[in-house]
Amino acid sequence: METLRIWDSVRIGLRGRQKTKSSGLVFYFRVWQTERVVPHEKSPRCLVCASQEVDLRYAITRFEVLSCQACSQIFLDPLLEPDEVRELFSSLYTVGEGSVPELKDYYSYCFDDTPENPLVQQYEVWLDQVEAVKAPGRVLDVGCGTGLFLAVAQRRGWEPYGIDESHEATEHARNHFDLDPWVGEFETFVSSDLTFDLVTGWDVIEHSRDPVGLMQNVRSRLAPEGVVAISTPNQESILDLIGGLIYRLSGERITKPLEKFYIDQHFLYFTSSTLRQCLVRAGLEVFSEKQEKTDLRRLTLSPASRVLLESMFIAARILHRENRLFALARSI
Ligand SMILES: [Zn+2]
Repeated sequence: METLRIWDSVRIGLRGRQKTKSSGLVFYFRVWQTERVVPHEKSPRCLVCASQEVDLRYAITRFEVLSCQACSQIFLDPLLEPDEVRELFSSLYTVGEGSVPELKDYYSYCFDDTPENPLVQQYEVWLDQVEAVKAPGRVLDVGCGTGLFLAVAQRRGWEPYGIDESHEATEHARNHFDLDPWVGEFETFVSSDLTFDLVTGWDVIEHSRDPVGLMQNVRSRLAPEGVVAISTPNQESILDLIGGLIYRLSGERITKPLEKFYIDQHFLYFTSSTLRQCLVRAGLEVFSEKQEKTDLRRLTLSPASRVLLESMFIAARILHRENRLFALARSI
């Protein structure tokens, strides 16, 4: 049996003594932290730097959200098995997201290349930013899914290439967008001789078990002066801030808000800083970056929840804690 080091918060009540669960609504102040060592079946290892020195940030559902002491990367433990991931993604495009009701229809926007589709609008915005520094050329979309991004890029003059492990999604790319994506793992594709002016990974890196290896593969596919464009959730978002506050104030009992952000198929949660560090390990440097928010039109929400989230996102913009990151990078 191995052990896990946990930085555990020590709390005192308003009256300076430990409160019990039965004392009702009480507020605790986090005054200092102590270290404890607990039995753990298998020592988690940071997915970026491989350090086994980790702090426990949250314990939610069947997962722990851990923070690497060496590189500050936030990641889940344990990870879903590869079979579970394949099964999950197979159903995402057909029956929708199961674990988070708000994402029920999130993937239904991946099918139609119409100007009013919020996802098409998002791709146009991202391409505007890419094309400000790179003229259209050959593009590879890693995790291209249904091919919608490539369809948009093709309209704007890019020569489209895609790769995805999902047979269901790539069939749509073939039948509806007349694309011919490579079906399989990226590792099998990198043996090809093709290089690209742009390699994109929209919400891909957070699913990786080996993000540095993934980005090294991406880098190896870049043509001279090629650009990498990626998007991923922002761990330093208002969702973590508020969810984490509720978690701590409730004595680590209320985990629901955190479960909306830390979801089982996202293994990694990057900040601006940890994303840059991860990319540097892969020989890439971020040269442009911005925060974004989720387009609420893609979420299934009650009117009250929609107003609440809209308010939170306004506050997030002011606090510079929006829930998504967009970055452009190039070889170092
Ligand atoms: Zn690390």
